[in-house]
Amino acid sequence: MSQKSVLITGSSRGIGAATARLFARHGYSVCINYRNNREAAENIAEEVKAAGVDCIAVQADVSQEADVLRLFESFDKEMGALNVLINNAGILLPQSRLSGITAERLNKLLVTNVTSCFLCSREAVRRMSTKEGGLGGSIVNVSSIAATLGAPNEYTDYAATKGAMDTFTRGLALEVAGEGIRVNAVRPGIIETSIHADGGEPGRPARLAPLIPMQRSGQPEEVAEAIYWLASERSSYVTGTFIDITGGR
Ligand code: NAP
Repeated sequence: MSQKSVLITGSSRGIGAATARLFARHGYSVCINYRNNREAAENIAEEVKAAGVDCIAVQADVSQEADVLRLFESFDKEMGALNVLINNAGILLPQSRLSGITAERLNKLLVTNVTSCFLCSREAVRRMSTKEGGLGGSIVNVSSIAATLGAPNEYTDYAATKGAMDTFTRGLALEVAGEGIRVNAVRPGIIETSIHADGGEPGRPARLAPLIPMQRSGQPEEVAEAIYWLASERSSYVTGTFIDITGGR
């Protein structure tokens, strides 16, 4: 039986890595993508292969169109047909109020969090669309509950990129609903990964845990479960929608 396949952007660490492990356990062949951290990506690839499925790890900065094209070409050559795309790669920059937000900072967030999502989705739709001779498929975007909360005093720019991702999720879902492709998103709350150190506060999950109704931050594996459900046939009548994974926040 041929394996189904998934391409997960930004899967050398955090939520992407947990998602790669989970898809492998469900028998998917996995394309891991990373920007810098080759060692972490290769370690995840070894774990994925140990589950008995095919795996490649491809370096590509998904904010750059040429890198996205190269990533998908590597996928075509080594993995075959694409069934699932997870747009997970994303960054935070150090906490700032509006007064500290420059055009350079904003543009870096926009290309990494939003442009990447458009470009990777475009390449996936070209391959999956039944109008183009594809077999259909599923796209899951990793947004953030910040899109609805706004992240004042810390990350309004990041939150706005996730708002753009949500709007795109809805628009693309409706655009390709008749072409065998479902498009959905997860909106995690505070999940324990190294992204908080990049935002300048590694201890942020512990600081905010008392404000979360469930009184704790989340784990990457808890997000991966929702991503898997949205990507798989288990959610076959679900498109253009969102799952919030926030402990009630
Ligand atoms: P993380 O632990 O910092 O991991 C980020 C991953 O993205 C790494 O694999 C990194 O690769 C990759 N990456 C970053 N920029 C990239 C680029 N330009 N091209 C390719 N790969 C790139 O982050 P995380 O917390 O797992 O976050 C994953 C997603 O969840 C993000 O979209 C984030 O916004 C979202 N999210 C996270 C939380 C949270 O609390 N953690 C909450 C809501 C939403 P390298 O290892 O090579 O750097």
